Amino acid sequence: GMADQPRLLEGLDPEQRAAVTAPRGPVCVLAGAGTGKTRTITHRIAHLVQLGLVVPQQVLAVTFTARAAGEMRTRLRALGAAGVQAQTFHAAAFRQLRYFWPRVHDTQVWPLVDNKFRLVVQAANRVGLSTEKESVRDLAGEIEWSKSCLVSPDQYATAAARAGRDVPVVPQQLAKVFATYEQLKNDARMLDFDDLLLHTVAILEEHPEVAEEFRGRYRSFVVDEYQDVNPLQQRVLDAWLGNRDDLTVVGDANQTIYSFAGAAPKWLVGFPKRFPDATVVRLERDYRSTPQVVALANKVIGAARDRPAGTRLKLIGQRPDGPEPDFAEYDHEPAEAEAIARKIAALAGRGVPLSEIAVLFRVNAQSEVYEKALSDAEIPYQVRGGERFFNRTEVRQAVVALRGAAGRGDEPGADLPGSVRAVLGDVGLTDEPPVGGSARERWESLIALVELAEELAAVAPEVDLARYVAELEQRAESQHPPTVEGVTLASLHSAKGLEWDAVFLVGLAEGTLPIQHAEDEAGVEEERRLLYVGVTRAREHLHLSWALARAADGRRYRRRSRFLYGVIPDRHPAAMPAKTRTPEPGPPRKQATPRCRTCESVLVSTMDIKLGRCSTCPSDVDEGLLDRLRAWRSDRARQLKVPAYVVFTDA
Ligand code: ATP
Ligand code: MG
Repeated sequence: GMADQPRLLEGLDPEQRAAVTAPRGPVCVLAGAGTGKTRTITHRIAHLVQLGLVVPQQVLAVTFTARAAGEMRTRLRALGAAGVQAQTFHAAAFRQLRYFWPRVHDTQVWPLVDNKFRLVVQAANRVGLSTEKESVRDLAGEIEWSKSCLVSPDQYATAAARAGRDVPVVPQQLAKVFATYEQLKNDARMLDFDDLLLHTVAILEEHPEVAEEFRGRYRSFVVDEYQDVNPLQQRVLDAWLGNRDDLTVVGDANQTIYSFAGAAPKWLVGFPKRFPDATVVRLERDYRSTPQVVALANKVIGAARDRPAGTRLKLIGQRPDGPEPDFAEYDHEPAEAEAIARKIAALAGRGVPLSEIAVLFRVNAQSEVYEKALSDAEIPYQVRGGERFFNRTEVRQAVVALRGAAGRGDEPGADLPGSVRAVLGDVGLTDEPPVGGSARERWESLIALVELAEELAAVAPEVDLARYVAELEQRAESQHPPTVEGVTLASLHSAKGLEWDAVFLVGLAEGTLPIQHAEDEAGVEEERRLLYVGVTRAREHLHLSWALARAADGRRYRRRSRFLYGVIPDRHPAAMPAKTRTPEPGPPRKQATPRCRTCESVLVSTMDIKLGRCSTCPSDVDEGLLDRLRAWRSDRARQLKVPAYVVFTDA
């Protein structure tokens, strides 16, 4: 009876409660980080279920990572709403395709491409383009962007120009690679991840009887992190809905961090216009972070340019006071990593559980130096804690390869672990672990699959490859959050939606955040939002740091991130320009490096030149100084024999 049902409206503030109790129909929650958006949608679903207004199996809740989906299922179960489909867009689409595809195409759904890169390489070869690893990655990235933006090969050149894409080759050539890739994939009767969504759209749009059946099955839709929806995902959502409007979306336009891949907050911001009778709720109370962390988050995002209307909300901290966020500058990255390992040990000594501590960085390659420092300090850690095992690229590829082998009945007479090893050898598993961060990570993931085979073989010797693959698939479906007692090392992208007691934001140097290739203003603004996402992951302790050189013997000096300007308190030692702390040694240089007349930082980036503005403070740079800057850069380029467009750091 009612008495033992969870009291879903307790522990919600009035605005959250308004969103939870709104009648079925369009609901939109526009709010900043930590204001309880995810909590609100979870409670809304459970509340509707509790009142008997929806059947759990008829609700489809979409999140952006498999981990977030798993966490939502766990929460819903605890709130009495087991059976709700909480999935990523891709997982939901794949599930539906398995069911609808055979009815439309008279075959089983085509399998996923097991090695996408190989197909792109083949396509590039046919078009006569270079197939180095880096350029193949760029080509694949452009193909992905096109498909996410519903751009066909024919439309590519025009669309890429309009979107200001930094196209790695002549656009017409890229269009050819794209068309060839599609052809090869179709001939092989395989699907890539974007195809899962494209085919879902095609089937629902072109087969009214299938669409009708689907719409009878799913009646209520929920989307978390709606600010990062891309045109293809939006099209899927529209195909799901038809002309219905039972849709709840929540998001924070200031956390849009996938616009490089085609995502845009326009659907979130435009939701109230599209559904004029929508219940629209704005939340301002931040329940996650201390007022000190909230103040810093407000500063970081307050400096953003061109924030869309309606996103200029300020967060209001609700928690008791905590320590001030701290800033620190180091000579080089290993020193930064060692210092942070020491600080983590100190926090742990004061009772902060390791699983409540995260080190967040801009690019995965940065994890290596932290892995070493933490290992040296004997602190357990978990790389990429944000990404679930079965969601990792190499694991997905491995499962596809294993499924293929099982389907063909390939077992070289060996026992199960032997067969698994042999199949995984083809997708890159070596006998010995490779050195180095990401290769090592991939190896660890693959070897874990072998270990699972060993475990299974030990308890049930009769298990064959097919049963093993079935077991993997089942685990992938029902994977529980990893219960690892270690520090989390994660990229800022994969930290979205998550929270920890203590967060270390590292590598906040020019070239890393903002990342070197973020050259135009839109790119830089996306980097600023990434910092905002990072800052708002912290409940209590927040530490921001950067290093002036990559390695201990590094000569290429870097500057702290422009985003820290005006954010570090003036009196903080790390706020003083490096120049005033360490007098420059040696005789005065003939051609002094041009410095900003306002903040005195060295002007070096192409942004400084392009926009005529110091990228640090950011005040205007006068013409005389700009001329000197251009001359200085081409002079340096000659000395170093590198092209002048390389962004220099101050030597
Ligand atoms: P993000 O934008 O980062 O995804 P969010 O808006 O989804 O954040 P949640 O993760 O739902 O925020 O909530 C942040 C934290 O605040 C969680 O620990 C949640 O349990 C807590 N919280 C949310 N609402 C309340 C409330 N009314 N009272 C107490 N705690 C709350
Ligand atoms: Mg959330």
